Amino acid sequence: MSPSASSHNRPFQAPPLGEPYLLTPGPLTTAFEVKQAMLRDWGSWDSDFRAMTKSLCDQLVALAGDTRGEFVCVPMQGSGTYCVEALLGTFIPRDGKVLVLANGAYGLRAAETMRYLGRAYSLIDKGDYMPPRGDEVGAALDADPAISHVIAIHCETSSGILNPVAEISEAVYARGRKLLIDSMSAFGALDLDVSRIRYEAMVSSANKCIEGVPGFGFVIARKSELETTKGNSHSLSLDVHAQWAAMVKTGQWRYTPPTHVVAAFLEALRIHAAEGGVAARGARYTRNRDVMVAGMRDLGFETLLKDRWLSPIIVTFFNPAHPNFEFARFYDLMKQRGFIIYPGKLTVVDSFRIGCIGRMDEHVMSRVVAAAGEALAEMGVDDAAPPASAIAERAKLAA
Ligand SMILES: *Cc1c(COP(=O)(O)O)cnc(C)c1O
Repeated sequence: MSPSASSHNRPFQAPPLGEPYLLTPGPLTTAFEVKQAMLRDWGSWDSDFRAMTKSLCDQLVALAGDTRGEFVCVPMQGSGTYCVEALLGTFIPRDGKVLVLANGAYGLRAAETMRYLGRAYSLIDKGDYMPPRGDEVGAALDADPAISHVIAIHCETSSGILNPVAEISEAVYARGRKLLIDSMSAFGALDLDVSRIRYEAMVSSANKCIEGVPGFGFVIARKSELETTKGNSHSLSLDVHAQWAAMVKTGQWRYTPPTHVVAAFLEALRIHAAEGGVAARGARYTRNRDVMVAGMRDLGFETLLKDRWLSPIIVTFFNPAHPNFEFARFYDLMKQRGFIIYPGKLTVVDSFRIGCIGRMDEHVMSRVVAAAGEALAEMGVDDAAPPASAIAERAKLAA
């Protein structure tokens, strides 16, 4: 059966043409219909495409839970990092100072971005996976009145930890400061409803939990705040205020938009709504995680994080201590079985990651576990337990 003939009413069909599943945090496995939506060319100035841009923005603002017309969406060309840089460059005034909350690669990247921007920042670096907590954020703000903004990472994708953004938001606004959120790998699956969690702006991208293809990201910002940011940006192309002002005026992106990616994203949004929106998407990813983590634990693997901090986005496992285990070979054996997994990004212990997001369900995750069991057997690894040093490292994680 051809992929197109089989794609209807079969939302979780295997990727077409023997493609492996991408168990990665984006780019990820997309629906056939999402790929199919790209088989057409659009003129970026044409009214059809302008209507597509407007629909995309309206739907994203609705996903953020804005019912009072207080928030606007500004799509930006580029990968997620471009959009984080656009966010920071636009929302932190040149004489402002940001407190960066880091517990992994993406938090550190936000700090690095501030260094490039040449603007003031301070850093709470919790290491690989300890969550930044509200009380320590509060203490840092009390100690430094110059801090005007805080940037938090919603799900720190390098470990998979789900950071306590609601608690952080309370600490920030209790002290009259402003919160920006990198919700790249969480928005669309985890709650970031503006009526429940206060923030000025958040950023995410097309190729994560909405399950589109890569090529642009978007900032969802409080309009009254965005209006104050004119002239802040260091960069012409990364100026969120200028992009927004041009869109309001012309309905167009300032420079060539990724037209096919936008078309694919609209299809991804349609599927997201049909599935049941943020709650249903989050529930599916949670089932994916639960089935996968339970199965991997049965095989003897152990997670880096305690259950409380395990996100339904991506899960980090310790490499087994067994002398026959070699990640590169494990990766190849998984790939032969149709699954692309993800190397770890921790500094202290060896690890690998398995993503729970993308167009797949718990039945696929059961097959991932079965494949991991076969791969271990083929490598001659009869015990997947991590080294004692990894367990000792994990014990440091607060309850
Ligand atoms: C994916 C991601 C980014 C952006 O990464 P790109 O590779 O530039 O798309 C930023 N922050 C987080 C938390 C992410 O998961």
